[in-house]
Amino acid sequence: MLVLSSPSGAGKSTIARNLLENDKGFELSVSVTTRPRRSSEIDGVHYHFRSRREFDNLRANDELLEWAEVHGNFYATPREPAERAMNEGRDMLFDIDWQGAEQLREKMQGDIVSVFILPPSMRELKVRLQRRAEDDAETISRRLANARNEIEHWRDYDYVVINRDLDRAYQQVLSIVAAERLRRDRSLGLFDYVTRLLDEQVD
Ligand code: 5GP
Repeated sequence: MLVLSSPSGAGKSTIARNLLENDKGFELSVSVTTRPRRSSEIDGVHYHFRSRREFDNLRANDELLEWAEVHGNFYATPREPAERAMNEGRDMLFDIDWQGAEQLREKMQGDIVSVFILPPSMRELKVRLQRRAEDDAETISRRLANARNEIEHWRDYDYVVINRDLDRAYQQVLSIVAAERLRRDRSLGLFDYVTRLLDEQVD
């Protein structure tokens, strides 16, 4: 389970998209949200857009692995796809905030790697939020204020990447994924391999 968190506008979604396009081993955990859909978003692809009542029902039925209120809306990870991916040994990507990351660490012990993406500066973060032009001015200033709160949790993460340059930040995330897969192979399948290697007779 790869968890990516960052304040809005730090580049996390672009990094996540690149990773999903280029590494077919990853599947995205599509979150449920009560936030209104942006014009660029598709229901069921970017999020499952739900009413507050529907969200509350999912929560009451224990269908959510974690949930949090972020920027005045509710967000959650559906339980079933994440647990299925875990059981089948598939890699899953979670684009969730620090509250969600904290809950996943508690509930899914073990195979979870978390990466926090930092912006180069608060000024640049603001510029990026404005450039995105998908949210109104009030939403942008709320997201900027919340960014400080989100950033305060950087220490809880296994890795921190500073997104000064998108390509470079993406390469760093790829390096993390590569190293973590080697570490996992070491704990899962390498025992048999090394036994065979040592059994091999050569002159
Ligand atoms: P946005 O509204 O910009 O798509 O997302 C706002 C924030 O909510 C982002 O920081 C994103 O990572 C977080 N978020 C998205 N889905 C989830 C989720 O399922 N759980 C939690 N805890 N946070 C989420």
